Amino acid sequence: MHPHPHRHALVVFSGGQDSTTCLAHALNRFERVETVGFDYGQRHRIELAARTEVLAQMRARFGRWREVLGEDHVLDLSVLGQVSQTSLTREVAFAMESSGLPNSFVPGRNVLFMTLAAALAYRRDITVLITGVCETDFSGYPDCRDDSMKALQIALSLGMDKRFRIDTPLMWIDKAQTWQMAHDEGQASGTPQGGAALIELIQEHTHTCYLGDRTHRHDWGYGCGSCPACELRAQGWRRWQG
Ligand code: ZN
Repeated sequence: MHPHPHRHALVVFSGGQDSTTCLAHALNRFERVETVGFDYGQRHRIELAARTEVLAQMRARFGRWREVLGEDHVLDLSVLGQVSQTSLTREVAFAMESSGLPNSFVPGRNVLFMTLAAALAYRRDITVLITGVCETDFSGYPDCRDDSMKALQIALSLGMDKRFRIDTPLMWIDKAQTWQMAHDEGQASGTPQGGAALIELIQEHTHTCYLGDRTHRHDWGYGCGSCPACELRAQGWRRWQG
């Protein structure tokens, strides 16, 4: 039996605030949702641990989402360490480069992520790929841009001869609106107090900090508080709290 088109989604899920919000968004809209993450020798295994914990918490706290949430896939991308020397894959301090990009930038990383996600989706009979890339709080990653994603949607659909759709629910919203979206999706889950529950889950279990800091707890979650990822998250939280 073949599933209906566009009923099944694969979420590129890192265990951070953005992809957790995208996952919640997907769980309210699709019949089956699977997740994919990439192990590319992150300096801090914390990110991979966070994604496992977030998935477990979502299953534990949200009854309807438990029914929809399918398999989680982790793909080995250690090859990234061979083609780049960045602060994400090597023991190099986080810094901004003269290009204006953080040295965490791995050229074409999202192109690779989406290509592998599409290959996996093909095999799993999934046609919708969902990613939390965003142009609003633009961190300078060129392969996170809307045009990059639209080009990839066409390239992957042609290249695999299958009609893929790439959904980017966060593309045009800022970080304050991302907190609001998480609240709204939690509320829409059918779980009593689901909005507050998803916010609390994101504060406690998601990981965004570039430095892998899980020792400092702020009202917006754990992190060093000063890397660009922490700053974005904290500013968004403060604006959302108003
Ligand atoms: Zn940080």
